[in-house]
Amino acid sequence: MKVTEHIKSANGKTLFSFEIIPPQKGKNIQELYNNIDPLMEFKPPFIDVTTSREEFIYIDKAGLFERKITRMRPGTLGICAAIKHKYDVDTVPHVLCGGFTKEETEYLLVDCHYLGINNVMALRGDAMKHQKYFEAAKGGHLYAKDLVSQIQDLNKGKYLHDVIEVDDKSDFCIGVAGYPEKHIEAPSLQTDLKRLKEKVDAGADYVVTQMFFDNEKYFQFVEAAKAAGINVPIIPGIKPIAVQRHLQLLPQVFKIDLPEDLIQAVENCKDNKQVRQVGVEWAIKQSKELQKAGVPVLHFYSMGKSDNIKTIASALF
Ligand code: FAD
Repeated sequence: MKVTEHIKSANGKTLFSFEIIPPQKGKNIQELYNNIDPLMEFKPPFIDVTTSREEFIYIDKAGLFERKITRMRPGTLGICAAIKHKYDVDTVPHVLCGGFTKEETEYLLVDCHYLGINNVMALRGDAMKHQKYFEAAKGGHLYAKDLVSQIQDLNKGKYLHDVIEVDDKSDFCIGVAGYPEKHIEAPSLQTDLKRLKEKVDAGADYVVTQMFFDNEKYFQFVEAAKAAGINVPIIPGIKPIAVQRHLQLLPQVFKIDLPEDLIQAVENCKDNKQVRQVGVEWAIKQSKELQKAGVPVLHFYSMGKSDNIKTIASALF
């Protein structure tokens, strides 16, 4: 079922969903299942699986030359298929512009269709560390909007190069990213909203937001999006703080603000066990207010470990 159909059939009730990261190469999938198992009692209608590009320096054995290698973390589609089969739940692979040609994207989408996966998140991806700006793969897309258009073309039976009779069209439901505190590269929130509107006009069906820790930012964003003519569901993304280091890391990586009260509470903690507790309490407070405001889904960034998400979900669902 499509994400938008899940939202419609919930009749205004807030749903619970979460996002996972494929295990690192060589790691067993069982650990992932161990973290998903405790969350299934909250009946997530869909689970997102991220896609990551990693960069590392390759030095030959003699140490004579080194070069930067960019690679995909494998597993996104395989894990989507495995989870869908094991738990009978819809899965949403994150599809990136970065690192993919349009042809590779088409192969990926055709595979999704064969696997019965009919929801995808269309994302640009970030610049690699050695790049000043994001660079598209040769023959790939520069902006998420163009990826959305390619997916919509496929939904209409339009493949990249082939003129063929299509008797089994895909019907992807497309999610895109939104930024209540604007995307790092956008000159202003207003410009960023214009870009978001372009993604929706190209065919995006729903938006999932970047994490935020002050609900006012989300509420204002939703209002501004509506005023800009964006009328698709905007799903809030919630991340519980888990370690002290998040105080520096999250604002630095995601260009988001942390409220003073939260900073103070984390700084008062003696160890990361206490920080995890503070993170859980903050996320519960945030989620209860969002639930009361009638958000369609509460989407949690689980980052691998699920004990804190389970505690939060137990307080809400
Ligand atoms: P876009 O919508 O293309 O926007 C990128 C920037 O370009 C913005 O500043 C926008 O304002 C600007 N822009 C857009 N169109 C134009 C135009 N025509 N001209 C000029 N400027 C323009 N990253 C991953 O690598 N893997 C993941 O699995 C992943 N999952 C994510 C899930 C969510 C919910 C979110 C919020 C982010 C996720 N990201 C992920 C991060 C995302 O890839 C980065 O934030 C990336 O930098 C931007 O992606 P986007 O899809 O928002 O890009």
